[in-house]
Amino acid sequence: MSTPDPIVIVGGGHAGAALCVALAEAGLGARVHLVCDEPVLPYQRPPLSKSFLKNPDEAPALHRAEAWYAEAGITLHRGDAAVAIDRAGHRLQLASGTALPYAQLVLATGARARTLPALQGLDNVAVLRSAADAVRTRALLAAAQRVTVLGGGYIGLEIAASAQALGKQVTVLEAAPRLLARSLSAAMAEHVLQAHRASGIDLRLGVHVGGFEAAGGRLQALQVDGVREDVDLLVLGIGAVPEDTLARAAGLACADAADGGGVLVDAALRSSDPDVLAIGDCASFPLAGSTQPLRRLRLESVPNAGDQARTAAATLQGRQPVHAALPWFWSDQGGLRLQMAGLLPAHAVVHRRPGPTPTGFSLLHYVGDRFACVESVNAPMDHMMARKLLEAGKSPDPAAACDPAQPLKQWL
Ligand code: FAD
Ligand code: NAP
Repeated sequence: MSTPDPIVIVGGGHAGAALCVALAEAGLGARVHLVCDEPVLPYQRPPLSKSFLKNPDEAPALHRAEAWYAEAGITLHRGDAAVAIDRAGHRLQLASGTALPYAQLVLATGARARTLPALQGLDNVAVLRSAADAVRTRALLAAAQRVTVLGGGYIGLEIAASAQALGKQVTVLEAAPRLLARSLSAAMAEHVLQAHRASGIDLRLGVHVGGFEAAGGRLQALQVDGVREDVDLLVLGIGAVPEDTLARAAGLACADAADGGGVLVDAALRSSDPDVLAIGDCASFPLAGSTQPLRRLRLESVPNAGDQARTAAATLQGRQPVHAALPWFWSDQGGLRLQMAGLLPAHAVVHRRPGPTPTGFSLLHYVGDRFACVESVNAPMDHMMARKLLEAGKSPDPAAACDPAQPLKQWL
């Protein structure tokens, strides 16, 4: 028997799973269908590039057990991709042939790993986005002595640190002249660079990689700035592409690929069709407070997926929320626990607050008198307090805030 006014969620990743939780808490579970193309129950992606690669027995960490979805009344469609949206008929077509009616549809389709056409289908080339990718990468890592990582972004650096911990000889090849230019300040990026190099990773910046040589289904070698280097295992960490294919085919407004792509949504996370929402990595949303021209963001992080799920739950219940959550995320790279909150300002004065241990510190970014952003390494308590200050709109005097004897919570 079909449920009344179904809410259909496409994508069982962090955003889809968090939306299930928010709707179940609101007593709406019986209306919800969750459509997942992956066969596994929704699981946590962050461990896949960290502990999962290092522990042969680790299984994907599920958001919720199967019984939880059943108790909440949520209908799961696992291993069944959504292939088309019939907006006029309010139906979602699945690969299995099922046509699901919906009153409201939420696209939580995430992003896919960017690849290079020359490297498709080779036995010793890996990407890491899904649990299936992680199982394959873990097996390839176990068999390799040398690991070359293309891309020095979050995924590349996390995988490099994991491979290093496994005793592999690790090289990271990054095209840009510095690390993590979109999300970390130059000072923090330099700290990350030096820490990885000190740990023994051969991390090279500003390199051009090409000249891929394949034979027998394997990548044999590549060229770095024109110099040939043998390859044992190559892992790609060259970015993610928002999964907006379904939305584009259905005529929903999307950002140009050159602008980063993604489904265009309003402050309540509605797409150009008010009965279709988009959340998480696939959603391009207006920055709170930005006016014409709107400044749009597409954030690729677990906290963003959860925050947008909660905003979408409010929209689905007929409220008019304005998505205004403070962006934040973390990355664990070997001995580095990086945390970041707020958007990195173009022009800021940076103040350093020493952390509780010699390896930890926080960088507090001020625009005039306004505390705008914090980046921390190995200083989780300071980071949590600084994030709360940002959320509360508090701007302590920077000299006092950089005195480690002064607890940040006093300004809350
Ligand atoms: P996803 O989690 O990617 O989920 C989207 C789901 O939709 C997928 O299961 C996909 O298969 C499915 N799907 C797509 N199209 C269809 C379709 N047509 N039909 C049905 N299903 C479909 N972020 C952090 O903040 N901290 C971290 O430490 C961190 N570590 C990460 C480590 C790894 C290895 C990866 C890959 C990402 C990491 N991230 C981290 C990023 C974070 O996981 C993503 O930002 C987050 O998963 C986004 O959630 P999402 O639900 O939007 O997308
Ligand atoms: P990313 O952060 O965009 O980093 C990709 C890096 O690779 C960029 O520095 C990019 O440089 C570089 N690059 C691109 N093409 C290259 C090439 N041909 N040769 C060498 N370098 C190249 O993306 P990612 O690290 O691949 O991560 C994928 C997704 O997983 C993202 O959504 C990310 O947010 C998510 N993730 C997040 C975390 C976390 O938050 N802790 C951890 C893992 C993964 P340019 O920018 O100059 O193109």
